[in-house]
Amino acid sequence: MPFFDFLGNRETVHRLREMLARQRFPHAVILSGPRGSGKYTLALMLARALNCLEQPIHDGLPDFCGRCANCTRIAQADDLDARIAEAVEARDGMRDADKKETRLFVQTHPDVLVIPPDPPQMMIKVDQVRHVIGNIYFRPAEARERVYIFSDSAFMKEAANSLLKVLEEPPEFATIFLLAENSGELLPTIRSRSVTFALGAVSAEEIEARLATRRPDWNPRERALVARLSEGAMGRALSFDLKTYAAARAQALVLLSSSLRGGEHTELFKMTESFRPGAEGREKIDNLLTTLYSLLEDLMFIESGTPQLVRNTDIAGELKKLAESADFAWISRAAQGLGEVERGLRRNLLRSLSLDAFATALERTAT
Ligand SMILES: [Zn+2]
Repeated sequence: MPFFDFLGNRETVHRLREMLARQRFPHAVILSGPRGSGKYTLALMLARALNCLEQPIHDGLPDFCGRCANCTRIAQADDLDARIAEAVEARDGMRDADKKETRLFVQTHPDVLVIPPDPPQMMIKVDQVRHVIGNIYFRPAEARERVYIFSDSAFMKEAANSLLKVLEEPPEFATIFLLAENSGELLPTIRSRSVTFALGAVSAEEIEARLATRRPDWNPRERALVARLSEGAMGRALSFDLKTYAAARAQALVLLSSSLRGGEHTELFKMTESFRPGAEGREKIDNLLTTLYSLLEDLMFIESGTPQLVRNTDIAGELKKLAESADFAWISRAAQGLGEVERGLRRNLLRSLSLDAFATALERTAT
């Protein structure tokens, strides 16, 4: 039961499926909700339900099979970040003249088009909307319904105005999804021509329960940890790289405790030494920085008397010990220092040097 796989927001999903059942699905749908609430996942599920060749019924409502030619091709767009990265890379490899002409899209089925924000501005541009206008009035080739998914609500002004024209006269056989963390960012005239469904965040407990069936290879402590670290995003939880995280966290703990203890540098230098070469080192250091932030936040939660918000629950004892020798001022200095390391990295300062400087700065001012 594929819609069954969608976590949380049962009632909203039920209402959307009822609209599918009445064959009166709106031409423009805004799915709004926080990051990780499943806006894109749900839009892609609805695209499959609109076009599934088998059209199964579950619980008396339309569903999708997940196996037919339409379902499988649409599902190839599931990992949006990866598909966007591929599209960006393909464009970066073009000659300058072609690069300018090429707009960013994700398309794994001839009748389903995903329109992501275009870097570096990370906004939907007018040429992307023009491309949509250029083909939305043609009957679908292999599907029943053409589907367009705008994955972000940040539109350039001209792009928003062009989209409005389509929404004024949408063709019978097309559905447009607009995904928004905050639907207030969309023009009121766009909102008034669309039907809005608000999705709520998924709780860590719900994710943890779902992980019990989907990732039986993880033990309960690991599932609790991943559920908290993925911040309400089921997709992120399912694909969470626990091994890499554990490695980065072990290093982050060395860094924090050696900073708090002061003096002892050997372990730290040994660790940062291993980061020097190439892209792999860069990835390692990005993981380390993210992990350091999450540990500092956890220390902050302990300091402020809200230990129930701690995410690294499996090392609660260790964190408590660290928190005993840290205080608010130290934690905020550490967070600031991390920000400087990040800026240094963007300017390509030697990464091991800037990390060492970070640790040393903390030691000097440690309380
Ligand atoms: Zn199907």
